[in-house]
Order: sequence, then structure tokens, then C-alpha cells
Amino acid sequence: MAGALLCQTDAAVLMVKGNNMKTNILIIALTGLLLAGCGGGSDVSTATAEQAAPEKVYKWKMVTTWPKNFPGLGMAAENFAVMAEKMSGGRLQVKVFGAGQLVPALEVFDAVSQGTAEMGHSAGYYWKGKTPTSALFTTIPFGLNAQEMNSWLHYGGGMALWQELYEPFNLVPLAAGNTGVQMAGWFNREINSLADLKGLKMRIPGLGGEVMSRVGVEAVNIPGGELYTSMQTGVIDATEWVGPYNDLAFGFHQVAKYYYYPGWHEPGPTLELIVNKQAYESLPADLQAIVEGAARAVNQDMLDDYTARNNAALNELVNTHGVELRQLPDEVLAELNRVTDQVLEELAASDSQFKKVYDSQNAFKLQAMQYHKISEEAYYRARELK
Ligand code: CA
Repeated sequence: MAGALLCQTDAAVLMVKGNNMKTNILIIALTGLLLAGCGGGSDVSTATAEQAAPEKVYKWKMVTTWPKNFPGLGMAAENFAVMAEKMSGGRLQVKVFGAGQLVPALEVFDAVSQGTAEMGHSAGYYWKGKTPTSALFTTIPFGLNAQEMNSWLHYGGGMALWQELYEPFNLVPLAAGNTGVQMAGWFNREINSLADLKGLKMRIPGLGGEVMSRVGVEAVNIPGGELYTSMQTGVIDATEWVGPYNDLAFGFHQVAKYYYYPGWHEPGPTLELIVNKQAYESLPADLQAIVEGAARAVNQDMLDDYTARNNAALNELVNTHGVELRQLPDEVLAELNRVTDQVLEELAASDSQFKKVYDSQNAFKLQAMQYHKISEEAYYRARELK
């Protein structure tokens, strides 16, 4: 009893001392370990025996789909590695490889599945060739936003479905980053009606591209690094990328006049941390908890970073570079929304696994929409009333 009280006091003191985000994460992890140690009437002799043994250091490789140190996306992977090493007192060391350094960008899934690397950082929708259901764990048009996605994954049954989906691929998935709602994209012509979309050649991959192609857009996929030149030389008329922070860095304002919102096609893309199953199972329980805790922290940290940087970058795009900010007309959004339902229902009808996950996510979305109408939405509206 006294021991349990002491544990709680130690945890409380640690909680108070944290004065920045990274320290707090470390402290939360330490607190968790302390409390875990307190909970079960721990055996002192076992603890002493464990302490006496030399601590094994795990040196892992992480392959990623992003160029090394790529702003935002790539930094989430780097932050995970830094955090995991600090939290574990150096017992888990993760070396991060950029795209192409160990394996090409789109071979991350196979490399981790086969154990070439213990970990990978990427996005599920890149693996739709393996299983179309993977897209549901990144983002789908008119789907969940970041807050809703995190809620579905961690408290709405999403993580269990994701684990079930990746199990046959020998992978343990974790959410590890989110960009928040993206932008609809950069255009050189105004979009005032559905007719303005017809014949447009636009870079828009995935399900968003499929929806666009059904309303007359020639949807293509081009790697990020080639987008600026493709816009400049007229190979494409329009492109989506991410949002103000990443788009400003690419200089799209120099090759396109109109910047459209909202990013109906990517409302809250979740990045994934995938871990080779045997590698994960080889970790002691505390290091497994650190992997999960650091992923969860990075997942939220990236969204916080994007929110702050997007605000500042949008300001610069509009006020310094004279970008014309435009909202897609309701007529266009309504049709894209209708066609999205069609595309998703076709996929669900042809793939029982997709249907199972889609039904779970969609039911969650309808519930979240109902509540957010009287919470988030009502508050946003109220905030503007004066
Ligand atoms: Ca995008």
C-alpha cells in the first residue's frame, strides 16, 4: 500500500516537472512504466535479476517512402527515432533511411514484411495493389478528418481491423503522422462549375483520382519531385499535393494562379509505422510500449506541426505571393461526393474485406458527423458571430 502511494507520488512529481513537449512524452512514458511496475505487487528479486543482466541494445533499420529529412512527412520518421532512443535510454536505436537509400520508396511494405528492415514509415494507400482496403487506413474522399480518424483507430475498433488486415503480411501497423485536411489543389483555370473540370489534366492519385476521372478529368499520378516542372511545362493543368506548408516549399505559386480548397479527396491522411512482426515480438514489453507510445506521440505531433505551419504558409502565399484562394463550388463538391459514394460502394461490393472495414469506418463517420455538427461545427460558426 505504502509502495503504491510512493509510486503515485513519484509519478505526480515527474508529471509536474515536464516543461516541453518532448520532455512530457518521456515523462508520460516513464510514468506509465512506474505505474505498471507498481500495479502488480512486483517481485523485487526478479527486478534485481533483470537489472543485473546486461541490457540488450536493439539496432533497427527504418525504411521510408520519403526523401531523407523531407519536411513534415520525413521528419515524423526522424522524430520517432529520436524519441524511441531517448525514451529507451539508448536500448532501441533506429536508423532512418530515406527513399532509395536502402529500398525504393514504394518497396517499404515488402522490405519490412520480409525483414530487410525492422520498420517502415509510409502510408497505407500506397499498398492498394496488395489490398485495396489499405486505403481506408490512410484517407478516403469525404472520409474522416484527422481527429475522427484518430478516434476511430484508437477507440472505434479501427486498430484491430488494421492489425487483422496486415497480419497475413507479417506486419504490425501503428498510426504515425497526419497532415490534417489537405488542399484541393493548384489550378490555372477557375473552377466555377462541373463543366470546368472536363478535359483537365490533373495530378491526383488514388481514389480521389478515380472520382475525378468519372467527372471528366484526366487524372494522372506523378511523383512529387516532378510536379513543379510538369506544371511549368504544361504537361498537367492542375495538381494536388498536400497543403500550404509543403506546397509553398515546392513553389507551386510560381506555376499556378488559383489555390482551391477544401481537400475533399484527402481529409486527414494517416501515415503508418509498420513493424516486422517477428522483430516486434522479439522486443521486451517495455520497448514495445515505447514503440507504441512514440508512434502515438509522433502521430499527434505531426498534426500539431502542420496546423501551425499551414497557417503561416497560407498567409505568405496569399499576402506575399498574391495567390488567389478559391473554394470549390458546392455544385462541384456535391457531385464529387455523390461519385465518391458510388466508387466506394462498388469497391465494397467486390471485396468483403473492404466492405467490413468501410462499414465500420462509415458508421463511425455518420456518428461523428452528428456530434460534430453540434460541437466543432457549431463552435466554428459561433466563433465568427459578432
Ligand atoms: Ca495529397
